[in-house]
Amino acid sequence: MGIVRSDGRPFDTSVPVVVIGAGACGCSAALAAKERGADVLIIERDEPPTGSTSLSGGQIPAAGTRLQKAAGIEDTPEAFAEEILEKARRQTDAEMALAVSRGSTVTVDWLVDTYGAPLEVLTDFFYPGHKKHRMHGTPNRDGAELLACLLEAVSREGIDTLTAATATDLHADEDGRVTGVRLRRPDGGHEDVGCGALVLACNGFGGDPEMVREYIPEISDALYFGHVGNKGDAVKWGLEIGADVADMGSYQGHGAVATPHNTHIGWPSITEGGIMVNADGRRFSHENRGYSEQAIEVIRQPGNFAWAIFSETAHQVAMQFSHQRESVEAGAVRVAQTFDRLAEITGLPGDALAGTIAEVNDVLAGRKADPFGRDFGDKAPLEPPYHAVKVTGTLFHTQGGLVVDTGARVLRKGAGQPLPNLFAGGGAARGLTGPSCWGYTSGAGLMTATTLGRLGGEGAAALVS
Ligand SMILES: Cc1cc2nc3c(=O)[nH]c(=O)nc-3n(C[C@H](O)[C@H](O)[C@H](O)COP(=O)(O)OP(=O)(O)OC[C@H]3O[C@@H](n4cnc5c(N)ncnc54)[C@H](O)[C@@H]3O)c2cc1C
Repeated sequence: MGIVRSDGRPFDTSVPVVVIGAGACGCSAALAAKERGADVLIIERDEPPTGSTSLSGGQIPAAGTRLQKAAGIEDTPEAFAEEILEKARRQTDAEMALAVSRGSTVTVDWLVDTYGAPLEVLTDFFYPGHKKHRMHGTPNRDGAELLACLLEAVSREGIDTLTAATATDLHADEDGRVTGVRLRRPDGGHEDVGCGALVLACNGFGGDPEMVREYIPEISDALYFGHVGNKGDAVKWGLEIGADVADMGSYQGHGAVATPHNTHIGWPSITEGGIMVNADGRRFSHENRGYSEQAIEVIRQPGNFAWAIFSETAHQVAMQFSHQRESVEAGAVRVAQTFDRLAEITGLPGDALAGTIAEVNDVLAGRKADPFGRDFGDKAPLEPPYHAVKVTGTLFHTQGGLVVDTGARVLRKGAGQPLPNLFAGGGAARGLTGPSCWGYTSGAGLMTATTLGRLGGEGAAALVS
């Protein structure tokens, strides 16, 4: 795994634009490059491609889209960019936040109008950090549906995808110009493919436990819930070729993965008034500040678990998510018709749990302020039937990575200048989260994947035309 110095020798096969990775980022990049007239090859280690994209909820936030307008939602990319900055406590790049927010409006319209992505705006709840209904999801709120549509478009457009092909090395000249990619086949054989421009769409380093331990020790003992094939190759190559990396301690966690079932529940379980209690039956956080930072709150509890407890109303909103339905099928969502049964199912101390629920209902009724500063709004009180899921905190994907500019060009370390022909997006690039997990704006993963992918594909095509 590394950089091989080009010796000027021509490659047997050459393609103007090569994309590594066939997730949301790689497909968006390939489609955009092809639209601009470039021949493209996608190199993907898996057969068939899945990536974190297919594990995801498949929802992309965007402001000012055609779908929002049709639903009567007034929103602007500028307002969304401001919310991204607020969530990241202004510790992310403001120019990038605005560029990606503006770009996401174009991307979502483009995916829907040009490639028939089956997206609709979610209007029945607000994700943490969003002040407008701006999440665009597939019918089942399912990333596999989104990826299937993208892969179908890639194939329809005649873009070649080489699967079961792991990129191991990049060929580059002294100036950092990438001239080709070396890949390994399952039989151990190697092939070299030349290129005029390269888009790194091979996500982050969640699948490399050593890198997680080095850069994000706080989450290194937790379950990694993303695609295991994402082993930080973009960062490894980038460091060797002289690229800048940033926010390497940044990540998206998730505080509601059912244990031991390893399914995750839909976040409306929490947004719609649900709470989390620890083994003592007590709350320990403002649960709805964000699902990402809730991961570490849960991990810090005795036994590294919590119980999510929510109402029937919250459960019904969450049931639009394929992941909530999978959790029900797996037996992770327990239903209690009485408080005594809830205490029995969870094994939590009854007195403490009763006190916690009474206090939450006082907050919901406006009789007292929430000790954790949470504004529950006008959600339904916690009453039978109670829904309870034992959850733990997990790592969904890393958010640190290659520093890119607003055209998804990878920047050199120190100088702030772009490398000659290298682009990156999605989990391969630095996200908009800032230095840690608390800055993650809901849906930022697929937003940066599709938008930086599209921009990278356009830029790569422009270079080779
Ligand atoms: C459970 C879960 C739910 C999520 N839900 C959401 C959501 O609803 N909304 C949202 O915005 N984000 C969500 N995310 C985050 C989101 O999935 C990612 O941010 C996004 O999919 C990243 O896209 P990508 O194209 O960069 O990476 P991926 O989809 O992971 O694609 C990268 C591809 O590169 C391939 N690859 C890696 N290395 C190599 C190599 N050396 N050679 C060849 N191929 C290689 C991999 O096999 C993979 O197919 C979720 C994540 C998880 C885990």
